[in-house]
Amino acid sequence: AEAKPRYQRILLKLSGEALAGQQGYGIDPEVIANIASEIKEVVGLGVQVALVIGGGNIFRGVAAASRGMDRASADYMGMLATVMNSLALQDSLEKVGVVTRVQSAIEMQEVAEPYIRRRAVRHLEKGRVVIFGAGTGNPYFTTDTAASLRAMEIGAEVILKATKVDGVYSADPAKVKDAVKYPSLTYLDVLKKGLQVMDATATSLCMDNNLPIVVFDLTSTGNIKKVVLGESIGTVVKG
Ligand code: UDP
Repeated sequence: AEAKPRYQRILLKLSGEALAGQQGYGIDPEVIANIASEIKEVVGLGVQVALVIGGGNIFRGVAAASRGMDRASADYMGMLATVMNSLALQDSLEKVGVVTRVQSAIEMQEVAEPYIRRRAVRHLEKGRVVIFGAGTGNPYFTTDTAASLRAMEIGAEVILKATKVDGVYSADPAKVKDAVKYPSLTYLDVLKKGLQVMDATATSLCMDNNLPIVVFDLTSTGNIKKVVLGESIGTVVKG
């Protein structure tokens, strides 16, 4: 018998870098195809999936601002980068037969639906994967905050934050030999210790609304499904 998923509705947050593969920039077709097939598996379990993708593989507002660009303009460019990633992921998902909708927080009707909460929920109920593009639509925010906000709005039970490390460590495991991995943490631990889970805005939004975050490693195949089936991999952040 098929294993029973632990969640009915999830929000999966992918960083832009997750799409870049070895080249470290842009979108690697093989990498994005792998992600799409992992998402397809989860959809196949009957789980409703919403996605938020970052833009760091194309453009990062803060980085451009530090080199002299106006911050708000740079952030809008960053948001547009997330829309490009959203369209790329939509394409990969539809190639493997997953029905999707992209909803953008910045209106651009020719390429994506506008973000309409109730409509997003309806798509999810119909089994469509909804990809939320353009972050929150506001400069000075991040896609982690967009992920927290959208997760709350659609009533997702959890945020699955896919990273390159298999959880949250006491120190950078690549640099510190005896860095330990935390199986679970509280929101306050993350905020007080300044752990690199999500930024403080995103973390406190989750804290205020009791939304758990699972940080896990996307580079190892099958992990999205494992998390959805309730296997304890990665690090859980909760109250
Ligand atoms: N961004 C923004 N508002 C948002 C979300 C994103 O201004 O609500 C901009 C910001 O410039 C950010 C860029 O989009 O640097 C890409 O998003 P992010 O850095 O969160 O992507 P990731 O690190 O996950 O790839």
